Amino acid sequence: MKNSWIATSLAAALAFAVPAVPAAQAAPDRYTLVHAGALLAVPGKAPQREMTIVVKNTRIVGVSPGYLDAAAAAIAPGAQVDLVDLRDRFVLPGLMDAHVHLHGEPSFSRHRAERGDRNPPTSSEGAVNAIVYARRTLSAGFTIVRDLGSDDEAVFAVRNAINAGRMIGPRILVSGSALAVTGGHGDSLPLDETGDPQARLRDGTCDGPMECRAAVRYQYKLGADVIKFTSTGGFGSNTGLEPQLFPDEIEAIVSTAHLVGLKAAAHAYSPIAIKQAVRAGVDSIEHGFLLDDEGIALMKKAGTFLVPTLSASYPPPVFRIRDPESVRIRNEHKAFERAHAAGVKIAFGTDAGTFAHGDNAKEFGLMVKFGMTPMEAIRSATVVTADLFGVTADAGTIEPGKLADLVALAANPLDDVGALLKVDFVMKGGQVAKRDGRMLEPFSYPQPSATF
Ligand SMILES: [Zn+2]
Repeated sequence: MKNSWIATSLAAALAFAVPAVPAAQAAPDRYTLVHAGALLAVPGKAPQREMTIVVKNTRIVGVSPGYLDAAAAAIAPGAQVDLVDLRDRFVLPGLMDAHVHLHGEPSFSRHRAERGDRNPPTSSEGAVNAIVYARRTLSAGFTIVRDLGSDDEAVFAVRNAINAGRMIGPRILVSGSALAVTGGHGDSLPLDETGDPQARLRDGTCDGPMECRAAVRYQYKLGADVIKFTSTGGFGSNTGLEPQLFPDEIEAIVSTAHLVGLKAAAHAYSPIAIKQAVRAGVDSIEHGFLLDDEGIALMKKAGTFLVPTLSASYPPPVFRIRDPESVRIRNEHKAFERAHAAGVKIAFGTDAGTFAHGDNAKEFGLMVKFGMTPMEAIRSATVVTADLFGVTADAGTIEPGKLADLVALAANPLDDVGALLKVDFVMKGGQVAKRDGRMLEPFSYPQPSATF
């Protein structure tokens, strides 16, 4: 039951790295020795100098002092061994972003309006965007992301194509449509489809516990890895800050998600809505701009994660905001500062898509500006977010048994966290995706079937 979605989605995500060849032609083991000038293997612990990471196929099998060769790494003679020389680089685990919208971009709707297109963006356009932005996100050093709301099936398709090795990108945990009530933040139905049951399911629009349970199960059937719901209004829809769901609707969504083995993420600004979601057992509060002391205490007790998305305010989005006071409150970032000081678990999440994809790492600078040390911010984007995702056994640190997801940069991010904006090497699942600042082409295209 616990995190059973890992068994489905992440297992599929990991499978991509092993070429799909018949068993009779099973590929020999492939080793990679990574020589790291500085290695932050476990964020939260001190970095080490002059280390070797031994990778076998997709996973790390050793982390040792010194620059080992194949013999010193006890690799059997004759095995395929590649060397990756990062002796002048700072190496750390692949980064994670718990809140992106890969189909979206700030101009997605605005540009259409400017050229007089009356229709909303199509799912196909969203999928093409997500292909481009998934690649850009991996290039920025993010090897696992959570896509929290795309209003269609576009990001499912992109996730599946990445997992199958047909294109390059991070591992993606997909929510599909964010669930919202009629007229709420996230209800994007045209008026004449508001009563159409099928349209409501597709859009994730639900009123009342029974319909909200059905909405969770629909996303689950589509292949969701996580359930997202919008329990308050939002800036993006200009619907204010206040609660939009009744407690029984929140409870229905969270408990149904957990019943089918998925985590639940609540978009929530108002302190009342935050507390209702935490009491219902939600796994993360997204944004949480108006979090109060009682909410902080509840989150600490329940172990609920805050995903602060500070980047969403810098620069302020293009949205028309009705209430300047709400913008002021958001931009003060008091909730982040107080939650951090109180010891609430803070996962790394940006809301990329409301600003440019690939700039996800600017969140590090804001986290440090508002009270974290660089080490705490890096730990948030690795160890802590892996915990939220339920993938601690597979990711978050550079240790034997974990996936070989690692990134490298020229400068020490513990001195200047802004260095994380310049990731110039990315390895995902043991395969080099970016080297010397340049993305490589997709790792491998699957062999076309001979029996069409
Ligand atoms: Zn968002």
